[in-house]
Amino acid sequence: MRCLVVGGGITGLAAAWEATRLGHEVSLVEASDRFGGKVSTEVADGFTIEHGPDSFVAYRPAGLRLVDELGLGDQVQAVTGQRTVYLRAEGKLRPLPQGMGMVLPTRLGPFVTTRILSWPDKLRAGLDLVLPRLLGEEDVAIGAFLRRRLGAGIVTKFADPMVGGIYGASVNDLSLDAVLPSLRENEAQYRSLMLASLSQGRAARAQATGGRGPSSPFRSLTGGLETLVTALVAALREAGAALHPSTRLDSLADVDADAVILAGGVESSAVLLRGPAPEAAGALSGIPLSSSTVVTLAYPESAFREPPTHHGWLEAGPAPVSGVTVSSAKWPGRAPGGSVLLRGFVPARLGAIADAADADLQARVIEHVGTVMGITGDPSLTRIARWQGVMPSYTVGHQGRVAAVEHGLAGRPRWRVAGSALHGVGIPDCIADGRAQAAAALADR
Ligand SMILES: Cc1cc2nc3c(=O)[nH]c(=O)nc-3n(C[C@H](O)[C@H](O)[C@H](O)COP(=O)(O)OP(=O)(O)OC[C@H]3O[C@@H](n4cnc5c(N)ncnc54)[C@H](O)[C@@H]3O)c2cc1C
Repeated sequence: MRCLVVGGGITGLAAAWEATRLGHEVSLVEASDRFGGKVSTEVADGFTIEHGPDSFVAYRPAGLRLVDELGLGDQVQAVTGQRTVYLRAEGKLRPLPQGMGMVLPTRLGPFVTTRILSWPDKLRAGLDLVLPRLLGEEDVAIGAFLRRRLGAGIVTKFADPMVGGIYGASVNDLSLDAVLPSLRENEAQYRSLMLASLSQGRAARAQATGGRGPSSPFRSLTGGLETLVTALVAALREAGAALHPSTRLDSLADVDADAVILAGGVESSAVLLRGPAPEAAGALSGIPLSSSTVVTLAYPESAFREPPTHHGWLEAGPAPVSGVTVSSAKWPGRAPGGSVLLRGFVPARLGAIADAADADLQARVIEHVGTVMGITGDPSLTRIARWQGVMPSYTVGHQGRVAAVEHGLAGRPRWRVAGSALHGVGIPDCIADGRAQAAAALADR
């Protein structure tokens, strides 16, 4: 069959890869002059700079599976050393307690002794142990649910910085069922979320080798994540797929293909489906989109009182960034010797700062990072990457919108929407979804 893929981000490329491997004729159109979409690595002055994602998780197998299929297995990087991440609350940087998951501790000791939470916060969290089950059938906001079970401390100091940072929205808006369905399962099975997390942590540690506990799940590639895109594009071309950069598809009306994979994102897919599948288009338009800006800064080590060895921090209070990654400490080979590479995140939820012009935004981030890290002098390299209105937020009711998109396309089983719009924003989710949708669109009927 002839398969058209719209969008050459990681989802579209993965869909094209699956379709090619299944023996179909593939063409892919990409509006911009480069492939990869949000996966974007720049090499400059000896620095390897990630403008979008900097890693993918190993526990969702689709990422590493694709890496292996492309022969990149020997280029996989794990984060350097122990994963030390801080949380900045009330002006102080404190290490995240060992064994802290996205929201809940998997070890009791470090949670009880952490100074990130006050004693009233900890006692309130302990109430979870005795509370009855609280969830009904309806989807709820993660923040509201956690506040009732564990109290406000856990929400503002852990859940919002960690989950909000990944999903580009506040936990007060994000959907429990779409983002953290395991919390619903855990409440159903264990009643107490704390007991569930501690018990799962014990089981994971028992499985981990050598008693060292599970290491960081984050992976990247030597040369940055765009290495994956470059290899995938080369492999697709070698396999005979026709890849067309600088080609935007504006309408599905005259498309001459047996199957169509829409991997251009929420807005692009909504526009293309507006005429032929209005119900699906309407449901897609109901998915809120958020924005984020990544500010990259490089300094000589001599600008620091002590060069940082930790991997960065998350902000749990008002600040011009939601977090900072020390890329040169987190990954091997990202900065020339004697240099430090940092990235700060300025998501739209921080308010006015996110809308500031480049110079102003950069100056505010430089000032803040400089104060927190004790930096003197100016950065030797700066970059700003703006991701404007392109990050889907899985807010309460998201699963209903997913069902409506799927219902709206039920009459056209060979047209599929794939990628971060519906089933997960992480790179392995996008790869898995791209491949699954391609296989489903091209299945024998
Ligand atoms: C700052 C940032 C940091 C992130 N960090 C991480 C991380 O560390 N780990 C992780 O797993 N995930 C991370 N993510 C999420 C992840 O990067 C994305 O969810 C994923 O890359 C989305 O891939 P995609 O192919 O679905 O969409 P995109 O990358 O957006 O690609 C869509 C492509 O389609 C093209 N297109 C759109 N419409 C059309 C059309 N009509 N015709 C032709 N082409 C079209 C676009 O030009 C674009 O290239 C991050 C995202 C951002 C923005």
